[in-house]
Amino acid sequence: MRIQEGADRFIRPEELRVFGAGASTSSISAALLAQQQQVWPLLRAGYASLASVQTREFAFDGFVVKVQFNPGRITSSAAKVDERSIRERKCFLCLRNLPPEQRGVQFGEAYVILCNPFPIFPEHFTIPHLDHIPQQIDGSFGVLLDLARAMGDRYTLFYNGPRCGASAPDHLHFQAGLKGFMPIDTEYPAVVSRFGRLVVEQGGVRCLAVDGYQRRFFALESSSPAALTEEFTRLVAALRSVLGSTEEPMMNILASFDGAWRVLVFPRARHRPSFFFAEGDAKMLISPAAVDLGGVCITPLEKDFHRITPEDIATMFEEVTLGKAEFEAVAEKGIMRRE
Ligand SMILES: [Zn+2]
Repeated sequence: MRIQEGADRFIRPEELRVFGAGASTSSISAALLAQQQQVWPLLRAGYASLASVQTREFAFDGFVVKVQFNPGRITSSAAKVDERSIRERKCFLCLRNLPPEQRGVQFGEAYVILCNPFPIFPEHFTIPHLDHIPQQIDGSFGVLLDLARAMGDRYTLFYNGPRCGASAPDHLHFQAGLKGFMPIDTEYPAVVSRFGRLVVEQGGVRCLAVDGYQRRFFALESSSPAALTEEFTRLVAALRSVLGSTEEPMMNILASFDGAWRVLVFPRARHRPSFFFAEGDAKMLISPAAVDLGGVCITPLEKDFHRITPEDIATMFEEVTLGKAEFEAVAEKGIMRRE
C-alpha cells in the first residue's frame, strides 16, 4: 500500500466486519455505506432525502425511462465545469479535502471507494484516483474493468467523460450504483436483440451497434480484459477519426460483469440539451450523464420534474448522443475490419 497524504482516510476491511463486510469488494462497499451512514450526518441526510424522492416513469416502445426529482443533485447538474471555475474551487475528490467523517476503502494501488453524499442510487459510490489527475479513460479503462469484476455482483460501474457529466473533470474517478436500478441493466438483452447489429466479432470480443433505443450506443461483450481493452481502443480511435478530433471523444460508459464484461459506450455529441440553455419557461435544468442514458433522468428542480414529457426525453437523447450519420460511420469502420 503506498503511503500518501490522507492515507488515514482508509478503513481496513476488517474494521467493516461489524457492518457485514464479507470478502468481496462489493460486500465491503455495502458495509462501508452502513458505517458512513452511522458517522456522517451529510451522507445520512442524503439517503434520507433519497428515500422520499418522487419518481415518474415513461413507457416507450419496449423500454422505460424513469424521471427522478432529486434536489440533492442541483450542484452536479448545474456544475460549472469550465477551466476557471474548476481551478478556483477546492477539489472534493482529493483525500485532503474530504470532510472529517468521510473515509473510504482502498481499491488496488491507486483508487479509493467513497460513498457519494448526494446519491441517485439506493447505494451509490464515487471511486477517485488517489492523485489529482484529469478525468481520462485512456489508461484507466482497465481499472474500470477491474472495478466491474470486483463489484459487479451488486453494482454497475460507470464513467462520465470530462465534458459530458463529470462534475470533477480535473480528478479521475468512476462511480458505482446498485445493479438493477437503471432500466438498461435489465432491458439490455431485449434491446440488443431488437435494435443491435453485430459490428465485429473476433478475438473473443463482440461489438454491437445499437440504434433505436433513442440513445445510440456501442456494446462490447467479452470475458477477456485484454481483448476488450483492444476493441475499446479501436472504438475510441474510430470515434476520433470520424469526429476529426485528437481529444478524448465525448462519452459515457456503463460497465457490468456477470462472468463476462458488458461495456456500453454512449458517444456524445453535446454536453447539455438545448432546453438547458433556453430562456424563461422553456429552460429545464437537466444535464445528462451515464445514469440518465441508463434510463434514470435526474431533475433537480421540481417544476422540471412535473412538466417534462416523453418527447422532451426523446429530444434530449437525440441531441446529446452521437448523430446517426457519425454513428454509422463509426460502425462502418468496425464492419470494414471484419471483411
Ligand atoms: Zn482532486
